[in-house]
Amino acid sequence: MMKVPTSKAILFFVLSVLLSLVSWATAYADLNDFLQCLPKFSESSYPIIETIYTQKNTSFQYVLNAYIKNRRYSTPTIPKSMAIIAAMHESHVQATVVCAKQHALHITIWSGGHDYEGLSYVSSVPFIILDVFNLRSIEINVTYESSWVQAGATAGELYYKIAEKSKVHGFPAGVCPTVATGGLISGGGYGPTMRKFGLSADNIEDAKLVNVNGTILDRNAMGEDLFWAIRGGGGASFGVILSWKIKLVRVPAKVTVFNVTRSIEQGALDVLYRWQYVAPKLPKNTYIRATSQVSNGEGKKKAVEVSFSGHFLGQIYELLRLINESFPSSKTASK
Ligand SMILES: Cc1cc2nc3c(=O)[nH]c(=O)nc-3n(C[C@H](O)[C@H](O)[C@H](O)COP(=O)(O)OP(=O)(O)OC[C@H]3O[C@@H](n4cnc5c(N)ncnc54)[C@H](O)[C@@H]3O)c2cc1C
Repeated sequence: MMKVPTSKAILFFVLSVLLSLVSWATAYADLNDFLQCLPKFSESSYPIIETIYTQKNTSFQYVLNAYIKNRRYSTPTIPKSMAIIAAMHESHVQATVVCAKQHALHITIWSGGHDYEGLSYVSSVPFIILDVFNLRSIEINVTYESSWVQAGATAGELYYKIAEKSKVHGFPAGVCPTVATGGLISGGGYGPTMRKFGLSADNIEDAKLVNVNGTILDRNAMGEDLFWAIRGGGGASFGVILSWKIKLVRVPAKVTVFNVTRSIEQGALDVLYRWQYVAPKLPKNTYIRATSQVSNGEGKKKAVEVSFSGHFLGQIYELLRLINESFPSSKTASK
């Protein structure tokens, strides 16, 4: 039987809607003051006006959609930000933080847009997106085996830049090339070389962060507690990460990657069973992950299959020897 809402429930609902409308209307009134505040706190040689997209701007929707990776959060009913500040210079980040604080506006921080819950571009209260995707320079210093990477640079861009300068260096980060270092490293950052080198966050030597007062702090200025917190605690909880100084790790010039998929009929369960005991005990330069997925089986019947993706810091003949010793049944399974 359908439940009829009580008059109290209806009143509560109407009041909530009214309050929400009032709060958005007040925020829109503050938006102009906020926008006028921005040039006062940013460097005049980098006009911040060119980085502002309000909902009246014809490019607003395009800029918003460009980095939304979870399409559930781009539907019309999802609240949209009042404006996007696509920072081109560090001072734009400082100005956005200072002016948002002065005008009591909420900001979300956006680098690569891969947040599973849309936290970088969705909010239930009126908000502005501070987008740092334009801050994406990467300076590699092979002599010191380190690199300064801006928060908007993606993992793929970082891998590419390192490979351009050195064939025997790398950085332990994720498998997805479009994830940005801003969100990736501040959340930890796991990937195929983590068994040997740890998380991305374990390989950070310094960072530049804009704090709530709009001040740029490096490791020395922020202190070890904050430096510890931003490496895994979610950057947005503590400030805006401008850049990371990462430690490059030494890798062989040639590595081996593979992906083997098995259906249930092909013995996926046997291999999976054995994988859980063997994979954690393999040498640290070896990483095999297992993911299960639904596939179209015979006659388009849905079936389950398991993929084993591997990364080995060495050459294929060494890997084959290792796999044959650790998974003797894999010879049968791979027939
Ligand atoms: C397809 C896909 C594949 C993935 N693969 C991996 C993987 O292999 N390994 C792995 O570790 N993770 C992986 N992830 C998870 C991903 O690393 C996290 O979601 C990460 O937070 C995304 O960072 P982003 O900058 O791209 O996303 P965003 O949505 O821009 O940001 C994510 C979070 O970080 C905050 N943030 C972003 N930039 C800054 C900044 N400059 N300063 C402060 N806070 C900031 C945001 O406010 C938000 O809370 C994957 C995600 C997806 C969608």
